[in-house]
Amino acid sequence: MGRIISEVMSKREFFSLLPQVDEILNEEEIKGLLTKYPRTIVLESIRESIDFYRNIIVKTDEDDLKDFVLNNELIIHRTEKNCIKKYSLSLKRVINATGTVLHTNLGRSLLSDKIKEEIWEAASRYSNLEYNIDKGSRGSRYVHLTDMIKRLTGAEDVLVVNNNAAAVLLTLSTMAKDGEAIVSRGELVEVGGSFRIPSIMALSGANLIEVGATNKTHLSDYEDSITDSTKVLMKVHTSNYKIMGFVESVSNEDLVSLGKKYDLPVIEDLGSGVFIDLSKYNLSYEPTVMDSINQGVDVVTFSGDKMLGGPQAGIIVGKKKYIEKMKKNQLTRALRVDKLTISALEATLRLYLNEEDALKQIPTLRMLTYTIDEIEKKAIDLRDMINKNSIDAIVDIEDGISQVGGGSMPIEKLPTKVVTIRPNNISITSLEQEMRLGQYHVIARVYDDKYVLDPRTIFKEEFEYISDELLRIINGN
Ligand SMILES: *Cc1c(COP(=O)(O)O)cnc(C)c1O
Repeated sequence: MGRIISEVMSKREFFSLLPQVDEILNEEEIKGLLTKYPRTIVLESIRESIDFYRNIIVKTDEDDLKDFVLNNELIIHRTEKNCIKKYSLSLKRVINATGTVLHTNLGRSLLSDKIKEEIWEAASRYSNLEYNIDKGSRGSRYVHLTDMIKRLTGAEDVLVVNNNAAAVLLTLSTMAKDGEAIVSRGELVEVGGSFRIPSIMALSGANLIEVGATNKTHLSDYEDSITDSTKVLMKVHTSNYKIMGFVESVSNEDLVSLGKKYDLPVIEDLGSGVFIDLSKYNLSYEPTVMDSINQGVDVVTFSGDKMLGGPQAGIIVGKKKYIEKMKKNQLTRALRVDKLTISALEATLRLYLNEEDALKQIPTLRMLTYTIDEIEKKAIDLRDMINKNSIDAIVDIEDGISQVGGGSMPIEKLPTKVVTIRPNNISITSLEQEMRLGQYHVIARVYDDKYVLDPRTIFKEEFEYISDELLRIINGN
């Protein structure tokens, strides 16, 4: 059924030769597609293919159309490509070669391979989500996490919601609504995706009372601002920035003492909650949840998917009387976590019962605590694999810096070894683009006119794909 269009045709004739949708629909190849893809996808794909060629005719001058070839095979071929694209999921796997561990754009933390069975079971089978098996009666979805988090943090009680922004909102709404919450001017944090302490405060119905200055806040600043309307004293961990120079802030202990004196609870937004003191592993100290609880903070909130390395969640730990009140807040229902989160979080937290397991099995912790020797070994493996097929490029290993990401540890520089690639015959820009648009979408950095792969965040199983793709793109085969 192919038509080769001759050079004597006018534009109008070109149009008249575009096939009807039904004509294409009756082609054998399309019948094959209909067994693989839903009819709506196939129809849409045919229409778009015909439109594609119609547009070429519209946009091209009549004189230039003489080399234009149109036949049903071309339309069918394009239809098939459209089908594949339309039917593939929009949320898909990418390879993170940037070295940024908690890459917010690439999904923040990764779950451990160790827990996939638990998650799959929770997803595909009935569970005791809100059922008390011992009593044979209704239960609560929150109990599944309570014991584990209490054990790990030493807190009296626990509540888990959708993310840390929700945890802060719920805490303020429960404890400070229609009253005042006192916060240091040095701690009015904004984190990515438009979370701002003043805005969350306003949304919760609490009145923000700012005290102190950007660089210095003293205990007396808090004390002088306490009134009959004060409901909480709040600390916010400045997780994504550091103020240097003449700096002073009030410690948790001092704020807790002040709270006791005036019978006011102290709440703290920790941002990235960690359970392990990472300063033991050559990272800077990030306040642990246990430290805040031991220092007497009444309620602490933190993220499940920052340095904790779990699923997206907001974890609230603290004194029972406050958590009980939160459970009765209508907001809790609106912010509730689903069973997949509960399952993934519980299974991740169980790994923390043994620190060594946690460091090995939780990808976020593993990637953050690689020694430079381990990274160098990965870099050598990757370089050798790329080099072994006489690729037409200069491939080197260089010193580099990886980042924690996710707004955590902003000034931490993690020394790394990167594999750099300088192709001889194609531009860095097109190499970056082709790697990004390939089957597994390699996201990498480009600097100094080099294509840079940081093995810190690349899985060993991904090396082969990367080297095959590089060879295909650079050598052109
Ligand atoms: C990241 C962060 C949040 C928001 O946490 P999400 O889990 O992303 O909602 C809130 N407060 C601080 C201090 C943070 O660092």
